[in-house]
Amino acid sequence: MAYVILIIVIAVLAVAAGSWLLLVRPRRRVASRPAPPTVEPPGTGAQPAGSTAVDQAEAPPAPARAQLPPEPVLERPPPSAGRLASLRGRLARSQSGLGSVLLGLLSRDRLDEETWEEIEDALITADVGVVPAQQITEDLRTQVKVAGSRTADEARAMLRAELLAQVGPDDDRSLHTAPHAGHPAVVLVVGVNGTGKTTVSGKLARALVGDGRSVLLAAADTFRAAAADQLQTWGNRVGARVIRSDREGADPASVAFEAVRAGIDEHVDTVIVDTAGRLHTKTGLMDELGKVKRVIEKITTVDEVLLVLDATTGQNGLRQARVFAEAVNITGIVLTKLDGTAKGGIVIAVQRELGVPVKLVGLGEGPDDLAPFEPETFVDAIIGQPQ
Ligand code: GDP
Repeated sequence: MAYVILIIVIAVLAVAAGSWLLLVRPRRRVASRPAPPTVEPPGTGAQPAGSTAVDQAEAPPAPARAQLPPEPVLERPPPSAGRLASLRGRLARSQSGLGSVLLGLLSRDRLDEETWEEIEDALITADVGVVPAQQITEDLRTQVKVAGSRTADEARAMLRAELLAQVGPDDDRSLHTAPHAGHPAVVLVVGVNGTGKTTVSGKLARALVGDGRSVLLAAADTFRAAAADQLQTWGNRVGARVIRSDREGADPASVAFEAVRAGIDEHVDTVIVDTAGRLHTKTGLMDELGKVKRVIEKITTVDEVLLVLDATTGQNGLRQARVFAEAVNITGIVLTKLDGTAKGGIVIAVQRELGVPVKLVGLGEGPDDLAPFEPETFVDAIIGQPQ
């Protein structure tokens, strides 16, 4: 009997084991199979057709649009033409009443010796310089003698003509910034630190972009990292590339050379080179500027050498001008800060001193406050509008 029960138990266990193998194991095998690909219908936008859930899990996350750096918004500066006329109010403010003082004196019925001395003094105080002041006074004296009595308007016309003749209405003040023979024009900007040299380089780049030119800037003032940063900011605003050195004190000539070479390769219209303005020794300055110029001239010509002078520094500015003129052949003067306490006479004095025309004037700290110099607008601003 015990044998029979044992056989029955074994038989039951065998059936149970067989059923487990047949029913449970195969189900496990199906569950361990990879899931079939889930294909999104095209056009749902969730993922591209043909990609799988596994693909999606392993693919690197697509860059979110919002994380991309924003495109720089470039400014569109106004063209340079006519800027002086629109800024003439600032010029007039800076002339501290020179025009009205002169007109008041010239309109007197009797012009005695003392009045002529006052006229000469007013001109000297306005930074015209002693010799030009004497000459202007002498010329006016002759004209008054010839004309006899004069109305206020005649006195004004006389003064206007005389000042205009001294400023030089027919001098060539054009800036040579147009490319030539497939090469960019090269403009060297020189001057003592603090005169506004880097600002002028940046503002000039803006003005040229406003006139439709492509510009490349060279930060060859390698002794001041701030100057390169400043230039970079100016360049970024109008899309002008800036060539600079990572190393403070790097050779300015090599930065200038690299920039001009890049300007040639990239078919840029104008390369503006901001130079260092440390007036350490005259010899050092001459060596440095001379080298910058020579190195550029190995591959192209230097079209403009602009000397930046702070108009508020009067005689001191003239001394600086002399030193620079000995170091390098200046082709144009940029008078900055004519909106401040500057006396307009410096225009006459510096042109006479260097025999080079004022080509640009700075009339404020705004980005478009650099204007081509126009003698007539300037003189009219000095003597004011007729009442
Ligand atoms: P740099 O050392 O010669 O390169 O001189 P910067 O370009 O750094 O300029 C020196 C200072 O003069 C800055 O604060 C300029 O904003 C200011 N500046 C430049 N040009 C003018 C101008 O025409 N008018 C006025 N009011 N400030 C100016």
